[in-house]
This record gives sequence, C-alpha cells and structure tokens, in this order.
Amino acid sequence: MVIRMDQRVRKTFSVAIIFMLLVGGIVIEKTQTLETFMLKGPAKINQYKIDAIFNDESKKIMCNQTTEYVNNTKEDLDKVYFHIYPNAFSKREYAPFEKKEMTQAYPNGFNEGYIDIKNVLSSKKKLQYEVKGEKNDILEIKLNEKIKPGDSVPIDFKYNVKLPNSLGRFGYGDNTVNVTNWFPIACVNDSRGWNLKSYEAIGDPFYSETSDFDVNLLLPRKYKLANTGIVVNDKYDEKKKMYEIEAKNVRDFAFVMSKDFDIARGRSKGVSINTYNLNKNLAHKSTEVAEDSIRIFSDLFGKYPYKGFSVVASDFYIGGMEYPMLVMIDQSLYNEKNKFLLEYVIAHEAAHQWWYSVVGNDEISEPWLDEALTEYSTVLYFENKYGKDTAEKLMKTMEVQSKSYRSENIFKPTTDYKNSTDYSLNVYTKGAVALHNVRKEVGDKVFFSTLKEYYNKNKHQNVNGRVFVDLWNSKGVDIDKIISECK
Ligand SMILES: [Zn+2]
Repeated sequence: MVIRMDQRVRKTFSVAIIFMLLVGGIVIEKTQTLETFMLKGPAKINQYKIDAIFNDESKKIMCNQTTEYVNNTKEDLDKVYFHIYPNAFSKREYAPFEKKEMTQAYPNGFNEGYIDIKNVLSSKKKLQYEVKGEKNDILEIKLNEKIKPGDSVPIDFKYNVKLPNSLGRFGYGDNTVNVTNWFPIACVNDSRGWNLKSYEAIGDPFYSETSDFDVNLLLPRKYKLANTGIVVNDKYDEKKKMYEIEAKNVRDFAFVMSKDFDIARGRSKGVSINTYNLNKNLAHKSTEVAEDSIRIFSDLFGKYPYKGFSVVASDFYIGGMEYPMLVMIDQSLYNEKNKFLLEYVIAHEAAHQWWYSVVGNDEISEPWLDEALTEYSTVLYFENKYGKDTAEKLMKTMEVQSKSYRSENIFKPTTDYKNSTDYSLNVYTKGAVALHNVRKEVGDKVFFSTLKEYYNKNKHQNVNGRVFVDLWNSKGVDIDKIISECK
C-alpha cells in the first residue's frame, strides 16, 4: 500500500513535513526481534471456486463457494479457520480506519458492510461453524472428519456479502465498486499455528497462501470489469454479463467495477497491461508507467509470472493498494498537478507484485519485509527511468526524513505503530534507506543478484524476515547493523 497521509509526505517531499516530524514526539519503544517461525511451501495448494451474483441496487453479492482446503501442516486438523473480512465493516467501532480518517472513509456517514454466512457444508453434510475474532471477522469451522497432513477436504459455503458506501479498499463510491478481501479465505497455519488476526486500521493486515481460483461473476452489463486473473469466457444479454475467470497461483482475488472506465491497453515483457482510467487525459501516462514498471522490475528481480497486470483508478482515498495482478490507485491522483505522485504510487504498487504477491509474507507481523523492499524498488524505478540524480534526490529526502524521525526499529508488527505516519516513516522510508545502505556496502552486482535469488527461491511461498536476513548474512552483509545505523 502507499499511504497518502493527508497528502503530505508523498505529495510534497517538503521541508514542512520534516519540520513537523522534528518538533513531533519522539518515542522509544522496546526493541523487537525478527520473527523466527518456520515456513514451508505447500505441496498442494488450496483451490477456490466461487459463483457470485452482484446486485447493483442493494450492493450485495450472492455467493456460492467451494474451497478444496489442503492440510499442509504436519498434524491432523479437526478445525479450519477462514478470514471473513467484510465483517470488519459491520460496526462503526470495527471499521479499519484511523479515527481522524472516518469522514474520508465514509463521506456520506458510516455505512455497514458485512458477510452473512448462510451455511457451510462438506460432501453435502452440514458443518458446525462459529463467527469469532475481535471484529467477527474469523470463521471457525469444525470438520466432521480429521484431515491428515497432505490430504484435503472440500468445504462449501453459501453467503451474501454487503458492500459499504466507503472509499477504503472494500466498498463503493460514486465512480467505482471495489470488491476486495470479500470472500472467506483460509487463514494461514504456519509453525506459529493459526494466524487469526483481525482487519486492523494500520498497514495491510493480510496474510494468505498462494491458491488457484475459478470465479464466475454475474454483473450488470453496464459495468466494465478489472480483475485478478484472466477472463477465459464471457456471455451477455441486454442487462447482464457473465465472466468466467481463471486466476492460478495467486494469493487473493479482487475485482473493481465502473461504468465509466476508459480502458487503455499496453504490453511489456510479454505481459498484457490494462489500465482502467476515469480521467482520459492521464490514460496514456498510467499505461506508460505500468509498462515501464513491469519492464524495470522484471529486469531487476526476475520474470513477472502472470499474463496480465491491471492498474485501476478507484474511489480509494488512501493512495494505492496491491492485489495479485491488480492494483487500485486513488482516482484523485489522476491529474496534471499530481503527475509525479501518480507515477510514484503506480510504480510502488507494481513493485508489490514482486514483494507481496509473488513472494508473500505476514504483512501484520513483518510489514517491513514487503513494504521496505517495495519502497526501495520504487526508487529503483525512478533511477532506471530518469537516471541516478533523480534517485539520489529521492534517497536524500528519505534519509533526512528517517534521521529526523527518531523512533525505534523497523521490525515491528503493524499493530505496534501509533498511526500511519509513524508506520510509514519507519517501515517504508527507514526501510528503504536501510536497503540503500546495504546496496552501498555490497555493490550493485551482489545487491541485485541477491534480490534475484531471494525472488526466485521464494516464488509463490511465504517468507519471513529471518529468511531475508540470513540470505544477506550469507553474502557477508550484517543487515541488522545497517538497519541499527539508520535509526
Ligand atoms: Zn506498499
């Protein structure tokens, strides 16, 4: 994600923000250590089949879903857990926004969103389930029979999803309908056990496993659709259009609709680029940035593994948000005045395709792992496109910002940060400076070959900070020392 922070930090890179940070509070909190939990790549991956019908009047989605859930743990499982994120929008006090942002998130006042689970079955037999979690956003399902390690079980869900009138990731505004984190998605069971964290306000509170998706969407014909995956078939009549979508080897499935999208197409490194624009004048720019991002990051880190990439102008006040094969960009950035920021945000979200989408991590426990890399990748985009001077200027600004903001280390979970500014300046800015220092220490050759190795070794898996740090240590870099030096 890119956080706009009231359009201050990233919009201006100005002295004002540095001043504000200097006079702001300095907080030293206890040092946290790197996560050391064990990870493994699943042998078989979860399979999702979803049939969804969207009702435009009620903004509800009627869904049937079958998930073939694979037990990739070493133990028998008699229960499984799924995130049911829409319930985090069911009450004002749950809403995953900072208090001061509530009016931006709900310009027409609070409006509820939720998921209503109708039933859960396995092989036509009812399963007992319970809605749990701090925000009623975890579904615990008791299985009729234990699943052995390596085995799988089909779980059928019937549910309705209600979208809120909200300009966050999930909801609808005047221009777009953002359908993200919307269906029951399996919680990750790693060596720490089940990860059952709720949809929190700060950072991207998501952690999931690479899976295969077959999704059928029945939508009003007037809408143009941007989605994760590839549309393999469509049918339509006067009023409705049915899309058959395949999304293989992705860790989530999102779609955004609008009747006003102006779609521009491009191509880069064999990848089809679609940009969904609401301001025609910037369609060329957004397509160019998407193409250049795919080219630059493929060359630097390794091949983008999917056929398509979509950049979607959305009613999304926060800035930018990444999903597999699709990124949402705040539609208000699409104007001449914000051209630099628009380019920055698109490049940042595109870099998340490498760091988050293909190489995954627990974004709550270790947000620095994808965000610091992504933020530094954004600088690399500018370096490759506009030259070293531009990148140096960006780095200088980041160095000043991270030095003036003397808080603590960057190895903290999202839930330990005070607010988005605190989070962003540590995780993104200080993280990018640390990586820049690593590069200076090892030289370009080792730096880029190590990032390529990290990407190729961990494709479609979940990694943790220990894997990243150990890799650098194996190249003779004391990354802990480098990070501690830029506090
Ligand atoms: Zn990000």
